Parts: sequence; structure tokens; C-alpha cells
Amino acid sequence: MSLLVLGTVAFDTIETPFGKAERIIGGAGTYVAWASSHFYKNIKLVSVVGDDFPSDELTALENRGVNLEGLDIRKGEKSFFWAGRYHNNMNSRDTLATELNVLENYAPVLPESTKKVDYLMLGNFAPAVQKSVLDQLTERPKLVVMDTMNFWMDIAMDELKTVISDVDVLTINDEEARQLSGEYALVKAAEVILKMGPTHLIIKKGEHGALLFHQEGMFYVPALPLEEVFDPTGAGDSFAGGFVGYLAQTDDFSFENMKRALVYGSVVASFCVEKFGPNKLKSIDDEAIKARTNEFLKLMDISMPVSC
Ligand code: AMP
Repeated sequence: MSLLVLGTVAFDTIETPFGKAERIIGGAGTYVAWASSHFYKNIKLVSVVGDDFPSDELTALENRGVNLEGLDIRKGEKSFFWAGRYHNNMNSRDTLATELNVLENYAPVLPESTKKVDYLMLGNFAPAVQKSVLDQLTERPKLVVMDTMNFWMDIAMDELKTVISDVDVLTINDEEARQLSGEYALVKAAEVILKMGPTHLIIKKGEHGALLFHQEGMFYVPALPLEEVFDPTGAGDSFAGGFVGYLAQTDDFSFENMKRALVYGSVVASFCVEKFGPNKLKSIDDEAIKARTNEFLKLMDISMPVSC
């Protein structure tokens, strides 16, 4: 049993109202891998970096049990670089730079050992790369989860829709759901997107939590109100990592279990934002996750008679 994770491995420069962090470790694949590793052990990462990427960061992932056979390290090339600046509310951001570098001509070639997997997380990447990974698998995984962002909607909408039509769960944020569907109201947007192919849709709303849509109904989890939010970068990827990691661990894709996975996704994302980069995700242990999950459940705990 294994979980294949595709996602960028990158350098990020991040500006928030609390400060600036230059060329720190980032990338959707990095966040997903660290987040899911708290729930599931047999993870394989598919991505590409240049030889400027620090080897100790890769060793840390390997020590965490993440298999890097599918990571292409390109000699003489530069890793993907992204820079963003958050607004004062920390819920929205501007992209200041996207330097594709190694991503420009990347066509992943899956090692034989990663062609048959049980779970697939197509993290944020060019839709053509996401499709290529799906196409190289020799068997359909039990579950395919996909994340993407507005950048790809702006430049590759048709290719993106082709991939979306082939996944089980799509995770996007509220603005992306509006852009993808052409509908402002999220319930209507969800109706339109579910007709595109996925059986489940998760709409992330930053500090306002996340919504899960499915034919069986709708479910909402809040985000844990935190005293300090330093850097929201990677929160969405950490959410996806916690979500898919828990589903892989439990091997149960019922709506009830997806709700639990949504809670774990939110718990892991709440850690991610407390430090710059993936640092907090790297330092937490099972006890910290359990304690925060209990805190989270307390926040949502209400049972009351309906009478008026
Ligand atoms: P999130 O905050 O969850 O949207 O994820 C932020 C991470 O996504 C950063 O670490 C970036 O390196 C990475 N990222 C930014 N733009 C892209 C892109 N166009 N494709 C893939 N990954 C990206």
C-alpha cells in the first residue's frame, strides 16, 4: 500500500505583515509530503528540483520515510521559485514572482516502483504534468485527490478541466471555485464543479474553514482560531496532505470518514501557519496532533434540542 504525492519542491520568498523570509524551503509537494507523513508511512514523492536545492532538506524527507526515487535532480539547473506577499488580513496574497526554472520542460518519468499505488495526491503542478502522472499508472488508484490554483486556471484552463474530469476529490479555495465555475455563490459553484467529474469537492476558505460537497450532502469545518498566524503559505497543501494521509491510513472513503479527514486536514494546516515555511510541520509529533484535534473537536462540540 502506498501514497504517491506529486507537487512542486521549491524556494519561496514570503512577505507577511510579520516579516519577510527569503528563499526558504517551500513547494506544494514539500508541504503535502510533510503533512501526510504524520498519518501514513509509505509515501513516494514525484517532483523535480535543480542542484541548488539543499540536500539536507531531501535527507530530512527521506528520514521521515518519504521515498524520493521519483524526484528528478537536474544538474546545472535552478529549482522552481515563487514569491508572494500577504495582505494585512493574511487571507489573500499577491504573487510577486513565479520562476518556473526546472519546471519549464519537466515531463515526469515514473520509476517502475511508483506505477502502481493505492492513493494518489496530485498536488499543485502544471495540469499537463498531473495528467502525465495519472496516465503512467498501470492501475487506477483507489483514490485520486487533486489540488490546483488560479495560476493554472489563467493559463491552462482546458488542460486543467481534463484532469479534473478524472479525479475523485478536488480541493481548491473559494476564489478558485468561483473562477472555475463562473458562479459566485459557493453552493452553486460546487454544483457546477461536481458535474465536471469529481465525486467530492473541498472548498478551502482560509481562516474561515473548509466545506466538503458531495451528492450525499455538505459538511463544514471551521479553522482553529489561532493567537498567531505567521505565514499562511502551504496551509492549503498541508490541509490536503493531512486529508489524504488520514484517508490512506484508514482506507475508508465514506462521507463520514471524509468528514474526519477534513478535521485532520484542518488540524495540520493550523500548525503549518504558525511558523514560516514547513518548519512547524516538521517539528510536531503525534501527541501535538492529538492534543490539537481534541481542542478542535471541543470548538465544534454542540448538541442541542431543536425547538422554537
Ligand atoms: P498554498 O499556500 O497552499 O497555495 O501553497 C503555496 C506553495 O505553492 C508555495 O510553497 C509555492 O512554492 C507553491 N506554488 C506557488 N505557485 C505555484 C504554481 N504555479 N504551481 C505549483 N506550485 C506553486
